[in-house]
Amino acid sequence: MIQEFDLPARWRSFLEEYMSEEINALAMMWPKLRSLAVEYHQMETFDPKFAVDLLEAPAIHHDASETALRLLLQESGNDLPAFVRVSGLPSDHSLQIKELRADHIGKMVGLESIVTKISGVRPRIHEGVFRCAMCEGLIFIKQPNEQELIEPIECSRNYGGCGKNKKETRFHLVEKKSTMINSQFIEIQEPPEKLRGGAQPQRLLAIAEHDVAGVLNPGDRVTVNGELFVRSQRKAGRETPIFDIFLRVLSLERQNIPLEEVNIQPEDEETIIEISKRDDLYDLMKGSIAPSIFGFPRIKESLLLQLFGGVARKNSDGNRNRGDIHILLMGDPGVAKSQLLNYMSNLSPRGRFTSGMSASAAGLTAAAVQDASADGRWTLEAGVLALADQGLAAIDEFDKMSQNDRSSMHEAMEQQRISISKAGINATLSTRCAVLAAANPKAGRFDPVSEVPFTSQVNMSPPLLSRFDIIWLITDNPVEEADRRIASHIISNRLSGISEQRIEEGLDMDPSEGASIEGMSRSHDGSEVLGQDLFRKYVAYAKRNINPIIDEDARQLLTNYYVETRRLGGESRDSVSITARALEALVRLTEASARVRLSNKATTDDADRAIRITRTWRHGLMGENFDETTMQSGVKATKRNTSLELIRFIKDEYDRTKKPVLMKDILNFCEKTAIETGPVEEILEFHVKKGEIYLPQGYGTYAPME
Ligand code: ADP
Ligand code: MG
Repeated sequence: MIQEFDLPARWRSFLEEYMSEEINALAMMWPKLRSLAVEYHQMETFDPKFAVDLLEAPAIHHDASETALRLLLQESGNDLPAFVRVSGLPSDHSLQIKELRADHIGKMVGLESIVTKISGVRPRIHEGVFRCAMCEGLIFIKQPNEQELIEPIECSRNYGGCGKNKKETRFHLVEKKSTMINSQFIEIQEPPEKLRGGAQPQRLLAIAEHDVAGVLNPGDRVTVNGELFVRSQRKAGRETPIFDIFLRVLSLERQNIPLEEVNIQPEDEETIIEISKRDDLYDLMKGSIAPSIFGFPRIKESLLLQLFGGVARKNSDGNRNRGDIHILLMGDPGVAKSQLLNYMSNLSPRGRFTSGMSASAAGLTAAAVQDASADGRWTLEAGVLALADQGLAAIDEFDKMSQNDRSSMHEAMEQQRISISKAGINATLSTRCAVLAAANPKAGRFDPVSEVPFTSQVNMSPPLLSRFDIIWLITDNPVEEADRRIASHIISNRLSGISEQRIEEGLDMDPSEGASIEGMSRSHDGSEVLGQDLFRKYVAYAKRNINPIIDEDARQLLTNYYVETRRLGGESRDSVSITARALEALVRLTEASARVRLSNKATTDDADRAIRITRTWRHGLMGENFDETTMQSGVKATKRNTSLELIRFIKDEYDRTKKPVLMKDILNFCEKTAIETGPVEEILEFHVKKGEIYLPQGYGTYAPME
C-alpha cells in the first residue's frame, strides 16, 4: 500500500502527466462541469500499483486527488472546488449488488444498476463550525456522517481554545460559517436481466454528494462506482451490532449504447444477419412467439412488430413522435392473455411484467413515498413504465389500475415521460416503452349482442383506449373444431414439458436453458423456432442499428387506405371511421415490419402487412364499419348491430308465419341485407343461451321465447 502522505504528490504527477489538457478544459467549462473524469486504465498505464491502491483505499485517494487537483487549478489561477472522478473499473471490481460481501467494505466497487428511488437533494453540513460558550472560540469539525452531527468533545487548547470539556461548556453550531454540500439518497437495484429464475432483485442505498447529487432519475441505467461502507443499525437511538451497507458514490457511468445490457458478440451479429436473409423470416419469427400458445396468428404477428417497434422521431419544433407500438388484449377470461403477456415480457429486452392491481406503492408510473431507510425523507420511486424504459411493459389487469396511475398513464403512453413534482422533488422520468396490456370485461364475459360496444364493456375511458395502436378482441366462443385443436395443443404441450422436480434433482436438463445456448431450437411440435436469447439479441440489434424510412410507393398505399377508409366512414354523417392517430399507428407498424428484416427501407410489403393487421383488429372489434366515434362515445350504431337485426327478423318471421324460423331463411335474410354470415350461428347460439330464443324443433330451427 502506498503511504498516505505520498498520495497527493503521486496524484499530482499523474494529473500533470496525463490530464493537463482536461484540467484546462475543466476550468473553461466551470461551473457546467465540476469534476475531472479519469479513466481507470489511464491510472493503470501511469502506474499499476497506484491504480490498484485506489481500489483498495478509495476514500483517501478521493481526498488526495481532490487536494492535488485543486492545487493545480489554483496554480493556473483558477480557484475552483473541483473533484476527480474515476470510472471504468476493471472487471473484477464490477459487481452485482448480491455479490457484495464483508471484504468489500472500504473498497471501491462498480455496480451495474438501475435507479429505483431518489430522495430530494438536501444540503448537509460538510464541515461544522462550533462556538464555545465559555471563550467564544471557534472549533472546526469535519462531518463525514450524514446521519448524525459530530460535536466537539472539548475546546482544545492546542487550537487556541480554553480547554473546557463538554460538561463544563456548551458548543453552538454556527450555521453561517459551516460549509454545506448537496446530498441525496439514491436507491439502486441490480438490473433485472442479470437475475435468474425469478429471484428478487437486491437493492442498495447509495449516497451521492456534491456534483453527483441530483443528476439521476428513477429508471436511469448507470454503473455506480463508489466506496462501500457500513453504519450500525440504530434502534431507539442506540447503535446495535448489526450493520447496514451503503455506497458512497464516487463516480457515475451512463450507458451510451441503447440496450447496452444485451451483449451482442461478432459471431451473434453474423447469425443475426444470416437469419434476416431467410425467405421464411416472418413465419419463423411469428412461430417463435409463444409457441406453447395455440392460434392467434395475427395477434402474434402484431406482437412481433411491437417487439421491434417503429422509429421515434424528433421534429425541428421540439415535438416528439413515439415509435413504440401499444397493444391492448381485451378478452374473456382464460384465453391465455396473461400467458402471452408473461411470454412477451421475457422475450423483449428490458421486458417487465406486472399487474395493474400490483401492491407496489410506485404502481405503474411513479409515486412519492416516505422512506424509512432514507432517514424518513420523501423519495420518488419509479414504477414499471420508467423501469422498462426502451423496453416493453406488459401490464395485466390493466382495467384495474389505481386512480393515480390512470391519471398519469395518458402522458406516460403518448409523450412517454412523466413529470412529477411532489414533496419537494421535481423530476421528469422517461417511459419510452411499448405497452402490452390485457383487460377483462366488467361483466366477467363480453356480451357480443349487447347494444354496448366492446370498448365500453371494459373499465377504461375512451381517451385511454385511444392511446393503443391496436386493440384485439379475444372472445371465448365454443367452436368444436378449434376447441379440439386447442385441446390437443395444450395437452401435447404439457406432455412435452420436463418435470420441474426432475430438473431440480439434476435428473433432466432444463429445456429452456438448452434453447438459449443453441440459438435455434424446436418447439414441441417439431417446427424450428428462434431461441429466446437469440431472439432478444436480434431485437436489440435491430433497435440499435435499423431506422427504416418508408418509401414512396408504401406511403402511397398507406395514404390510399386512410383516405378510402375515411370516405367509407364519412357516409354515415355522424361518424369518422378512422383518425389521424390511426394513421400514425400504421406508420409505426410499417416501420417495425421493415425492422424485422433489418431493412432501412420500408416497402409496400411492409405497408401491406400493417394494413392487414389494422383491418383485422378493427374488424374483430367493431365489425365491417369500424368507427372511432363509436369507440369514443360508447354507443354502437344500431345499423351495424347484426345481432339485434337477427333477433328482430326471427320475431317478425315467427309472428307472420307462426312457425319456427329455419336457418336457411335466416341466411337468406343475411344475404339480402349484407350481413356477414360467418358469425351468425355463434350469435344465435348466444341468444339461445341467454334464453331470448329457443330451438322448438331442434338444431336449425328458431323461435322467440315469450
Ligand atoms: P387469461 O389471462 O386470458 O384469463 P390465462 O393466460 O391465465 O388466461 O390462461 C388460462 C390457461 O389456459 C393457461 O394455462 C393457458 O395456457 C391456457 N390456454 C388458453 N388458451 C390457450 C391457447 N390458445 N393455447 C394454449 N393455451 C391456452
Ligand atoms: Mg389473466
